[in-house]
Amino acid sequence: MKLKLSLFTLLAVFCISSISAQTKIIKTDAEWKKILSPAEYHILREKGTEYAFSGKYDHFYEKGTYYCAGCNTPLFTSKSKFNSGSGWPSFDSHIGNNVGFHEDNKYGMKRTELTCNTCDGHLGHIFMDGPKKTTGKRYCINSLALKFKKSQ
Ligand SMILES: [Zn+2]
Repeated sequence: MKLKLSLFTLLAVFCISSISAQTKIIKTDAEWKKILSPAEYHILREKGTEYAFSGKYDHFYEKGTYYCAGCNTPLFTSKSKFNSGSGWPSFDSHIGNNVGFHEDNKYGMKRTELTCNTCDGHLGHIFMDGPKKTTGKRYCINSLALKFKKSQ
């Protein structure tokens, strides 16, 4: 009886998690290299960081949506974008459940890495020094991880 119950619990947990989980896009490194530019590949798949003030969306404030450069999942809207002065596009919130958060202790720093929840591509990091009037969060994102589309 006990075994049956735990099996049932496992099954229930499995069902619930598969319903809530998004459909993942999984590709090999060779497949990613075919669809991404070398610079995009470095950021998204090798967790690279573009130089500050180098990205095309740093000082860019058109109205629209920012999609994952790897898989086209909508990640941020222009409404959540603000000028942090950091040299990277900054947002104070993300769209839906489309961004993943991961502990990152590389380079002796305690940071939280942000990834696209659909393709697991690296986007940037989140810091808690964002605008106090809204969320207080600063999503510090590489321009190369994003593709902007103007709203109609
Ligand atoms: Zn993606």
